[in-house]
Amino acid sequence: MEVVKPVKRNILLNPGPATTTDSVKYAQVVPDICPREQEFVEIMDEVRQELVKVVHGDSQKYTAVLFTGSGTIIQDVLVNSLVPDGKKICIVNNGAYSARMAEISEYYNIPCVNLKFPSTGVPDLNVVKETLEKDRDIAVVATTHHETGTGVLNPVREIGKMAHDSGCIFIADTISTYALLPINIEEENIDFCMSSAQKGLAGMTGVSWTVGKIREIEKSKDYPKRSYYCNLYMQYDFFERVGEMHFTPPVQTIYALRQAIKEYWEEGEQVRYERLTKCWEAIHNGLAEVGLESVIDKEIQGHLVVTIKAPEDGKFDFFKLHDHCFERGFTIYPGKMFGLETFRLCNLGWLTEQDIEDFFVLAKEAFREMGYSLPLR
Ligand SMILES: *Cc1c(COP(=O)(O)O)cnc(C)c1O
Repeated sequence: MEVVKPVKRNILLNPGPATTTDSVKYAQVVPDICPREQEFVEIMDEVRQELVKVVHGDSQKYTAVLFTGSGTIIQDVLVNSLVPDGKKICIVNNGAYSARMAEISEYYNIPCVNLKFPSTGVPDLNVVKETLEKDRDIAVVATTHHETGTGVLNPVREIGKMAHDSGCIFIADTISTYALLPINIEEENIDFCMSSAQKGLAGMTGVSWTVGKIREIEKSKDYPKRSYYCNLYMQYDFFERVGEMHFTPPVQTIYALRQAIKEYWEEGEQVRYERLTKCWEAIHNGLAEVGLESVIDKEIQGHLVVTIKAPEDGKFDFFKLHDHCFERGFTIYPGKMFGLETFRLCNLGWLTEQDIEDFFVLAKEAFREMGYSLPLR
């Protein structure tokens, strides 16, 4: 597509939405179309197939089901649709996004075994195993692949194996890893993964999806219907019979998503992973220069988010740092950890090492303006 006029490029170091290309932004500018027309049905069909391919899913076994909404909608859909009557969901919870799934189950009165672990590390797998072996009423296990709140990468393959060994299905919130880290859904023992257009694919906000096991979706036909708009089977059935979302899709967002997928394949899974790893290394190099430290051990980070401990001397002001950078086109984000002042640097979108280096030039200015001499000690 021909780009008409370049749009000001902002460097988003927040945990999504991510920095997008102009070609994705402009992909939304299309002639008005009724989404019930065949032309749009074909686009939907193409997008659904591509979304399965991103995680190397076998199209005989897995399908993509889309919903209009931000990432949380697909967490909601999976939690409320996949627990059979009288059964429980177990949340392997070491951070804010797993906690959100536990909260969703509470809102729907779904019995939940909320296995809480410290947010600074990976879950204790022995505890998970024991819990699943003991409580035979657990039918669904869910966790977050990459805790965007901290940057911890969870061992989903091992948790998925334990879930399967105990006869449970396994849901992995891959919202912040999908199209960023290479994922093979079947090898990772995942029955349902999920994402949202504004994260790794660097599309526009407003559509989210699961890539899930067809057999399990079909089984869920007889499970309690706890939501009208957010029922997985209903949406899947409509896609299969009519080829569309049950209700009005976010038309222009879908065009942008199609373009974002195209650009994903053009860059390539491995090249993207290497680019974001370089950005992540540049973040660690920049932090070392300033004299700041990451809260989470580098070995368990997913290469996508770094949580940084703020200086504790009373001089540090997150908003001064934020505003200095924001006025110059760089957005940073506060932390999401209890009882510790932190902030986060995330590299989910179309960023380069150079962008990160440019950010640290500004960050150093801001620290000096706060009265620090660098490096901090
Ligand atoms: C972004 C994100 C979500 C969804 O958040 P929204 O604000 O609803 O888009 C859920 N889980 C993870 C791991 C995320 O990174």
